Amino acid sequence: MRTAYLDHNATSPIRPEAAEAVARALAIGGNPSSVHAAGRAARRLIDDSRDAVAALVGADPAGVIFTSGATEANALALRGLGRSRVLASAVEHPSVLKAAAAETVPVDGDGVIDLAALEAMLARSHEPALVAVMLANNETGAIQPVPEVVGIARAHGALVHCDAVQAAGRMELDIRALGVDSLALSAHKLGGPMGVGALILADPDARLSPMLAGGAQEMRRRAGTENLPGIAGFAAAARDAVSGMEAESLRQRELRDRLEALARGIAPSLVVFAADADRLPNTSCLALPGLPARTLVIALDLAGVAVSAGAACSSGRVETSHVLAAMGAGELAGSAIRASLGWNSRTEDVEAFAAAFAPIARRHDGRAAQAA
Ligand code: PMP
Repeated sequence: MRTAYLDHNATSPIRPEAAEAVARALAIGGNPSSVHAAGRAARRLIDDSRDAVAALVGADPAGVIFTSGATEANALALRGLGRSRVLASAVEHPSVLKAAAAETVPVDGDGVIDLAALEAMLARSHEPALVAVMLANNETGAIQPVPEVVGIARAHGALVHCDAVQAAGRMELDIRALGVDSLALSAHKLGGPMGVGALILADPDARLSPMLAGGAQEMRRRAGTENLPGIAGFAAAARDAVSGMEAESLRQRELRDRLEALARGIAPSLVVFAADADRLPNTSCLALPGLPARTLVIALDLAGVAVSAGAACSSGRVETSHVLAAMGAGELAGSAIRASLGWNSRTEDVEAFAAAFAPIARRHDGRAAQAA
C-alpha cells in the first residue's frame, strides 16, 4: 500500500536530486578548510551551494550563514543581532519564542499579526527592538503581512527577523522585497536533508555575534566544520524547488482545495483554520468538532494516510497548539489536524485521504447525532 504522505510541513521527503547531491558530496572526502585538492573541491561545493541558497531568496551569497537548521538560525538571529528587546508574533515557532524572552504580539482569528498592537507595543519604549515575524505559519499556512511589519518596525528603529522556513520554495520569496534584516531557512522543509539550514542576512556586513566560537568557518559567524553533504543537498533542493515553482504551487493549491472540498462534502461541520487569510498553497488545518485530533490521526495512519495533529508533535506527544490557542480556537484546537502537500503529492493521495476520512467522520457524526 502506498502511504499517502501529507505531512510535508513536518518534513518533506528528500528530492532525488538532493539525495544524489548528498551522495556526491560524501564521496569528496575532504575538509573545506584544507588546502589540498580534496579540500578545494569541498570548498568549491560550499561556494556553489551558497550561491544556490542565496538565489532561493534573492540574497547576496555573502549574507548566507549555514547552520544546523532553522532552530539554530532563529536563535542566532534573536541572540546575535544585538537587540535585547524582542517582540514576536504569538504564532511563531517555539524555536523563536524560546530563543529569547520575547514579548508576544497578538494575532487575529486567522492567525494574522495585529499590526496596531505591534505599533502600540513598539511605541511604549525607546529601547531598540527586534521584531520576529514568520512569513508563513507551519500549522495553518497563514501568511503574515511582513512588508507592513517592516514598515512599522523601521518607524521605531527596530530590526526584523523573519522565519521563512515554510514559505521557502512554496511562494515568492525575496529578502529585499520583504525588507527584513534576516531570514531563517531549513533544508528538510523543501526536500533537502534534515539537520541543515541557514540564517541569511540582507546586509552581509551586519553586526552579528556568533553563538559558536572556534574555527573561522562561515566568515567567523558559525564555527565548526561545515556539514558538506547537508549543504550540498540543501542547495540541490533549493534549485529544484525554485524551478517551475509557480506551476507547482498552482498544482498543489488545486490538490489542497480538492482535499478541503471532499472533506467538507463528507462532513459539513468541518472547520478550516485560517480559511479567510492568505495561505500557503499546500497547507490545510482542519477540525471536526468533537473528534479528538489524536483519534483522527491514528485512524488515518491505519488507513495509510500520514497527517499530523495540530503542530508536529515533538517526541510523540501531542500538545495543545499555541498557534490555534492564540487564534482563539478554544476547544476546537484539540480536534485540529494538518494535511500538508509537497513535491511528490498526487491526486491519489488526496483521494486516499477522503476515502479514509469518510468512515471516521460518518461514525463520529452518527455518535454525535445519538448523543444529541
Ligand atoms: N520554524 C518553523 C516555522 C518550522 O516549521 C520549523 C520546523 N518545524 C522550524 C522553525 C525549525 O526548523 P529545524 O527543524 O530546521 O530546526
